[in-house]
Amino acid sequence: MSPLVSPRSAATAIPALLSLLTLALASPAAGHAQQPKTTAKSVAKATPTEAALDRLAKQPAVAKAMAALQRENEWTLTEQVGLCEIPAPPFKEAARAAAFRDKLAALGVQKLRIDREGNVIGEIKGTGPGPTLVLSGHLDTVFPEGTNVKVKREGTKFTAPGIGDDCRGLAAVLATTRQIIAQKIPFNGRLLVIGTVGEEGPGNLRGVRALFSGPLKDSIDMFISIDGTGFGITNGAVGSNRYRVTYKGPGGHSYGAFGMPNPIHAMGRAIAKIAELEASTNPKVTFNVGLVSGGTSVNSISADGIMDIDLRSESAAALADIDARLQVALRQALAEEKARWPKSSVPLSLVIDTTGLRPAGTTADTTFIVRTSLAAARTMNVYAPLTISSTDANIPISKGIAAVTLDGGGVGRGAHSLDESYDDRTDGYKGPQWILLVVIGLLTTR
Ligand SMILES: [Zn+2]
Repeated sequence: MSPLVSPRSAATAIPALLSLLTLALASPAAGHAQQPKTTAKSVAKATPTEAALDRLAKQPAVAKAMAALQRENEWTLTEQVGLCEIPAPPFKEAARAAAFRDKLAALGVQKLRIDREGNVIGEIKGTGPGPTLVLSGHLDTVFPEGTNVKVKREGTKFTAPGIGDDCRGLAAVLATTRQIIAQKIPFNGRLLVIGTVGEEGPGNLRGVRALFSGPLKDSIDMFISIDGTGFGITNGAVGSNRYRVTYKGPGGHSYGAFGMPNPIHAMGRAIAKIAELEASTNPKVTFNVGLVSGGTSVNSISADGIMDIDLRSESAAALADIDARLQVALRQALAEEKARWPKSSVPLSLVIDTTGLRPAGTTADTTFIVRTSLAAARTMNVYAPLTISSTDANIPISKGIAAVTLDGGGVGRGAHSLDESYDDRTDGYKGPQWILLVVIGLLTTR
């Protein structure tokens, strides 16, 4: 998960009890002139989705699963630590993938396989016909080979690179899957349990891309990624376009060859134009030249000027717009540097390599998957805000498939840093409980 998420709208986390109380009060008193005025919030009647989730939580198999998730919380934590201690650098997730597959096999997940990209895929078949829902976590970390991934535990706090992002997600997926199978919770359709590769930056979502371009691409109706910690619902996908831009020439002596186009000067012209690009705040649009390089010495005209550029927005249209203006700026800089030395016949070229494309989009607040995620949080009396981020859900969201990324509970700190920590506190188990309610809600209610 990208570290930056912005709470967008507040979910109304009204306790289920309050609504039940409201219902009890409302009927007999309806139309009574003397009925005391109550605030709009306190009389909010449960929506059909909310009422369905309240009922679902009381269903015997579901209630048993919820209780077991709390009682056997230590099991979840042991899995989280175990997976975290298997290194999973970008493009080297195979060992963790094999372990995740074996753990799913031990739980009774069927049709387990590892696809060509490296994703672990298994299935749990429901009792009747219905939609196909993906429940996934990502296997990869941002940390390079050789990083010490030994987990240090102090009470409820665990410290290790990747312990929250996304070993918490993977453990929550395992714990939820375990109870769905153990308690024989009835549901319709099919649950695909998946561990993806390549979610973090360098992977450029390669695992989830492969999933949605492979054999399953037309059969997935809904998608949930469990990524990170807390209780957020990410339904807005921040899109990004990343480029490595190179201005190239023959280079030469700074004095002897003076008078020819200079690739670093061309890059400087381009950076000045990028820095002046207009970027809106609503929808949010950002641009950044994050890395520059090139040149060999102070007294040489460099043969190249190289820069890495990142553009982002939550709006696909706004991202396309700033991208178009970037492309113009890069070409104008090239033309201006050439025009500066009209007598020179030395070539100057521009090469634009795409290093990352993550599509933007939104799963609307009104869709079933978002309403169910919010309603399940309300049933549990936890606050779950809607947020915008860059996650595996970007790909299905961009394809118009109902998708969200849910947090895995607990409290995380320092994602993507070596001192990353996860604190289970007293109620980390509520993460998997919430996920279970959402998953079963999506496969049993409408
Ligand atoms: Zn993540």
